[in-house]
Amino acid sequence: MRPTGKLHIGHLVGALENWVALQNDYENYHLIADYHALTTNLETAELYQNSIDMLIDWLAAGIDPQKSPVFRQSQIKEHTELFLIFSMLITTARLERNPTLKDQVRDLNIENVIYGHLGYPVLQSADILLYKGDVVPVGEDQVPHIEITREIARRFNQQYGDVFPEPEAKLTKFARLPGLDGNAKMSKSAGNTLLLSESPDDIKSKLKKAVTDPQKIRKGDPGRPEVCLVYTYHQKFNPAETSEISSACKSGLLGCVDCKMKAAAKISEYLAPFREKRSYYEDNLNEVKDILKSGEEIAGKIANQTINEVREVMKLG
Ligand code: SF4
Repeated sequence: MRPTGKLHIGHLVGALENWVALQNDYENYHLIADYHALTTNLETAELYQNSIDMLIDWLAAGIDPQKSPVFRQSQIKEHTELFLIFSMLITTARLERNPTLKDQVRDLNIENVIYGHLGYPVLQSADILLYKGDVVPVGEDQVPHIEITREIARRFNQQYGDVFPEPEAKLTKFARLPGLDGNAKMSKSAGNTLLLSESPDDIKSKLKKAVTDPQKIRKGDPGRPEVCLVYTYHQKFNPAETSEISSACKSGLLGCVDCKMKAAAKISEYLAPFREKRSYYEDNLNEVKDILKSGEEIAGKIANQTINEVREVMKLG
């Protein structure tokens, strides 16, 4: 995950909850992709602080560093070496067809795509394959990158010998939550997020401004929950009441203001344990830094073993 600072509920639903659940069944590795952050923003002054803020969110969400090492990409040099080797195994035409890149270029109004941005799925392939990942828990938008990773692994294995697995994407049922403005994706750049660390009052005031069914102007009007993002939030954070809310919305008995406040209360309740853990780590920053250091030692050893294996099959000496 790229370190863009504090995380939002879209990250929780699309990635974090999946990661936490997988800890019981898999040997997990969690990468703070700080080099990837440079593909869209060259400013590095806040990169470290953003990495720490994000790591605190991971820990508060239940990532257990004893089971799942956490580390920064920039601290393990093997990522860049494998990236270089992998960049010889894929064409620019293939990378230009990447639909995720096209979406980013459109969403961020990028006029000229830099080489590093075009090639970031290749760096991502190195991030995954350095640890010989079999399964990659990702959001929908990252699925094309897993396909590129599989192609690179296959190409490498055919050319030099069997070193890498072909990893598979693992999606959650709720892989994407819409933003508060109705945009299909919640994202910091669109300014439509609800942060995991948000207070109950902030959740309420943000929900108040959320976009709903445009045809439901006042309480008595019949609504369409299927087009309303607040209803999607109810499905995730208030599943027990969804059928009741759906009927009351459709019949006009339920107004949007009440429905939003109900959703705000449920989201606050859901995030309460998270906020408590977050504040513990904020008060114990040295513990967070030690967790990172130890994760980087573990990841560094594995990365070194893999790169030695790569050099051996490539006869690089
Ligand atoms: S009542 Fe609730 S589900 Fe229906 S349109 Fe309003 S906010 Fe959406």
